[in-house]
Amino acid sequence: MAVPKRKTSKSVRNMRRSHHALKAVGTSECANCGEIKRPHHVCGSCGYYDSRQVNSKQDKAAA
Ligand SMILES: [Zn+2]
Repeated sequence: MAVPKRKTSKSVRNMRRSHHALKAVGTSECANCGEIKRPHHVCGSCGYYDSRQVNSKQDKAAA
């Protein structure tokens, strides 16, 4: 097994982790109900995707 020759300094460790922060997820508006939803995902409010209904279970809750 390969073993590091020397201890990784706090500086190098922290510089490596400078890229680890999470980014906020993108948001888009549902074309059907106008609810905020994630892009390329079925709307959680009305169950529509690409201007058509794909999830009938959530239709009753919306209506
Ligand atoms: Zn919707």
